[in-house]
Amino acid sequence: MLIPLYRNLCGTFGLQHWWPVTFSKEKGPEYNPRKELTEKQQFEVMVGAILTQNTSWKNVEKAIMNLIRNDALSVEKIKSIKKEKLAALIKSSGYFNQKAVKLKALADFLSKNPIRSLTKEKDLRLVRNKFLEIKGIGPETADSILLYALGKPVFVIDAYTKRIMGRIGYKESSYDEWQQLFMKELPSNAALFSEYHALLVELAKQNCRKTPICETCPLLDRCHYGKSRQNNNS
Ligand code: SF4
Repeated sequence: MLIPLYRNLCGTFGLQHWWPVTFSKEKGPEYNPRKELTEKQQFEVMVGAILTQNTSWKNVEKAIMNLIRNDALSVEKIKSIKKEKLAALIKSSGYFNQKAVKLKALADFLSKNPIRSLTKEKDLRLVRNKFLEIKGIGPETADSILLYALGKPVFVIDAYTKRIMGRIGYKESSYDEWQQLFMKELPSNAALFSEYHALLVELAKQNCRKTPICETCPLLDRCHYGKSRQNNNS
């Protein structure tokens, strides 16, 4: 069921090429079909995963650009910069005081656990647990970092995924249960997980909104809630 669903989404929306990273200071973060990341870009993805908590990507982009313009987007700079100054630089992303604390905790962690070693580490659970120990990093942020910054095969669950899959008819409840649903049924492949998550987000934006637009949804034939909604309207 999950592979046909993926094909359906991919056929409708096309590959999404997440996560956007910066190649030139002038342009800012861009979607990246090339996939291989420099260490600087890996760090940028980690920072973006924290900044995107409870805000839109546009606001995150502004904050990232501000960090780049002020030459502050590096482990060393974020570790040494004053918390208040960092908060001011990332103001556009909202909750900036809390996020500044989280970024400093991330930078502190990475200064002891270099990105290169984390990328090479084969024990996924070990790396995940390390990130989960960082202040302000929960499962969704940790998994976004593992998948999009470090290229580890882990499925990211967010509110959009739960909404869509719940409406389709799945009954999982906890974060881990939702994650297991995908990770047990799909081949363990970071590129697949990366696209799948991005496509679910796209579907949530285009069709499966709070008030869904089921008529044009590519998953309508597979969706319990969508079909009953259509029947009630006819
Ligand atoms: S058919 Fe409607 S409820 Fe079902 S996934 Fe599509 S938009 Fe969401």
